Amino acid sequence: MRYVIIGNGPAGAYTANWIRKKDPDGQITIVSDESYPLYSRPGLPDVLSGSKLPEKLIIFPIDWYKKNNIELILNTKAASIDTESKNIITDSNISLDYDKLMIATGGKPNRIPVDGIDGKNIFTLRNLNDVAEIKSAVENNNGVIVIGGGLLGLETAYSFVLLNKNVTVIEYFNRLLPGHIDEEGSYKLQELLECLGLNFILGAEIKETSDYKNKKRVLLKSGRQISTDIIQISAGITPAVDFIRNTKLKYGRGIIVNSHMETNIRDIYCAGDSAEYNGRIYGLWQIAMKQGITAGKNMAGDHVTYKEDIPVVKLKVAGINIVSIGETELDGLEEHRLNTHDTNSYNKIFTLDGTIKGAILIGDISLENVIKEDIGKDFSIIRNNIKAE
Ligand SMILES: Cc1cc2nc3c(=O)[nH]c(=O)nc-3n(C[C@H](O)[C@H](O)[C@H](O)COP(=O)(O)OP(=O)(O)OC[C@H]3O[C@@H](n4cnc5c(N)ncnc54)[C@H](O)[C@@H]3O)c2cc1C
Repeated sequence: MRYVIIGNGPAGAYTANWIRKKDPDGQITIVSDESYPLYSRPGLPDVLSGSKLPEKLIIFPIDWYKKNNIELILNTKAASIDTESKNIITDSNISLDYDKLMIATGGKPNRIPVDGIDGKNIFTLRNLNDVAEIKSAVENNNGVIVIGGGLLGLETAYSFVLLNKNVTVIEYFNRLLPGHIDEEGSYKLQELLECLGLNFILGAEIKETSDYKNKKRVLLKSGRQISTDIIQISAGITPAVDFIRNTKLKYGRGIIVNSHMETNIRDIYCAGDSAEYNGRIYGLWQIAMKQGITAGKNMAGDHVTYKEDIPVVKLKVAGINIVSIGETELDGLEEHRLNTHDTNSYNKIFTLDGTIKGAILIGDISLENVIKEDIGKDFSIIRNNIKAE
């Protein structure tokens, strides 16, 4: 059996891992347009800030692929798929035949659609090469504007603070992390981040960016102008699936998969940030990995189902613990404040018709695992155990 996997992030690498566990003899080839074996993307802000070396992010070293008899073709992009003859062509004109194909190409960072956004010293962060470019640009500069105050934007902004840069985050919404934490939590977080040295302009929309002398200028729709040296964009991702557009693969935002991680074309699977499952693209490491494991098992002959995970989102900024679990913003949710010993902490559970749907934990996050297990359970059964108001 010949397995070809496009993309070597967690979805692709764990697909390979599980195919190998199930099929010791199959021929597995991974094509990756990056230069490194599997590494931790969530660790990139640490490399940017200088608190970790790039080597420390490696999860599966090159030896792992050799030991598992997995051919890893680096620095090579899959350019097209022929789903009839079951083969892919790379940008270096390598042709690879497959019996089973995995598309695990992840996401590419969005740029915002305004004039000047493709200019010099404007960056996005997705991989180790991006980190190297940003680091060299920021070395002799002081001002950084981060466009987008989502989780990744905040983590990246904090990396710049650790590099002693003057950092301002510009956010479209008028509070931080809507969709993950509620209003009270947002204000608490903003206060904590301001104490760490971050500046915020909230409820602001960018009109354009331009060059002015040696500086960058950001013009807001309100008319306000801000001058800076570097612009870092953190505005979400789009699944990296352009190269499948000439095929009959069904896609919405990502390639549509069922609970076996199968696409609409037999023997082609998709997982991770390039896959759209139940209308959702999660953008989370653990989910990409788990979908890859499901796909790998199925590609090797099993018939297992991906059980939808409860999304757990964490902010990884020094000294600030924030965990958002499941649903926190749904219409009709009821809130229950939890008693914590620490007055700086803020814990809340959200229920719908008496069933636990989600939680926000700020500061003291010790209940994370308990709550994760209790999602979907009746709140009244556990109410007293976790001392909710
Ligand atoms: C800076 C940063 C911090 C993050 N922090 C967190 C976090 O704290 N928690 C969390 O859960 N998630 C986090 N994420 C998100 C998480 O890393 C992703 O959800 C996860 O990596 C998705 O895995 P994937 O395998 O689907 O895609 P990816 O990891 O993106 O891997 C896809 C790979 O395919 C390659 N590729 C794309 N197109 C082609 C092609 N045509 N041919 C060959 N190769 C191709 C890409 O270059 C990439 O190497 C973070 C992401 C970033 C960028």
